[in-house]
Order: sequence, then structure tokens, then C-alpha cells
Amino acid sequence: MSQSASNKETKERIAVYPGTFDPVTFGHLDIAARALHMCDRLVVAVGDNRNKNPLFSVEERIALIKESLGNLELDGRVRVEKFSGLTVRYAQQVGADLIVRGLRAVTDFEWEFQLALINRQQDPNIETVCLMTSQEYSFLSASVVRELAMLGGNLRNVVPANVADALLHKFAPVPGKADVRDI
Ligand code: ADP
Repeated sequence: MSQSASNKETKERIAVYPGTFDPVTFGHLDIAARALHMCDRLVVAVGDNRNKNPLFSVEERIALIKESLGNLELDGRVRVEKFSGLTVRYAQQVGADLIVRGLRAVTDFEWEFQLALINRQQDPNIETVCLMTSQEYSFLSASVVRELAMLGGNLRNVVPANVADALLHKFAPVPGKADVRDI
């Protein structure tokens, strides 16, 4: 067997799961757990894109994901990192073979399709893989979760407890200020 063929066989398969994760939801965690079946190592890449005006800072989002991953993080195959700029450039830097994304509905498809084609055009060696949402999370997005938290909804089935606490803290009424949940 040639040297390069044997290197290919022994090389770890690395996947990058990029996103904003503002904040991480059970839908994201489900995709991360399933992505681990397709790779040896998974890098959850948290976009530091201030144009999106996130509710949580990138450091807060990373901490929430690490806590939420629990055992998955402890097994050493997952790491959570900040990134900015082109996803494909970041994927190259970490030696990734795959970029993982999630698909909920037809409305996600067009955007994810476009991203996948652009990524492939930038680097044909990195494959984008879209995982279909699990049915129970098909309605779930970070923006719905933020809205729910702002309006005082029940967060138990949509985010882990640490994320629910962080959201409650963000939207805790400031004494003396009108509470949006009362409006
Ligand atoms: P972005 O700003 O890059 O879309 P998000 O944090 O919103 O970042 O989402 C990251 C990825 O996770 C996207 O591919 C999105 O489609 C996917 N995703 C988000 N929520 C779910 C869910 N409930 N089920 C499946 N995939 C999801």
C-alpha cells in the first residue's frame, strides 16, 4: 500500500459545525451529537459576527455550549471554538474534511444549498453535509427561543437548564423599568 493511501486511512476525520448559537438549543445539540457518528473529531465553531448583533457575547455562547455538551465534551472528541471570517477558511485551518449544517424546513434549504455550493467552489476537498432536523426540534430556532424567553415562555423543552437560566438572567426585569412581559 502506498504511503499516501495508508495516511488517508489513518487520518482522523474532522468535522466543523459552524453557527451563531445565540443561544445553543436542543436542535443544535442534536445535530452535534449526530455529526459525531460521521467523524472522529467535531469542532463546534461559534461565529464572532457582531453584525448579527447577538444577545449573548461569543464568550458567553461558547461557555453555554461547553456546559450543555456535558459528557459529549468530556469524551474529548468535541471542542468549541470562536471563529470569524469565511467558514471554509476556518475549516481549512483546523484540517476539516466536513462542514456540518442542519436543515429544518424547505425555507432553510435554499440558503444552505447556496452556502454548500460556495464552500465547495472555495475548496472542493471540504464536503458540506446537511443533517435533517429531528422531528421534535423541527420548529426550533435560536430566534424563537429568544422570543419565547423575552415573553416569559416555558423553556424546558427547547434549551438545556443552564441556557434557560442564562436567558432568564438576560431578560430579568430591571427594577423600576417596565417589564416587556407585562406589556
Ligand atoms: P447560523 O447563523 O449560521 O444559521 P444558527 O446557530 O442559527 O447559525 O444555526 C447553525 C446551524 O444549525 C444551521 O445550519 C441551522 O440550520 C442548524 N439548526 C439550528 N436549529 C436547528 C434545529 N432545530 N434542527 C436542525 N438544525 C438546526
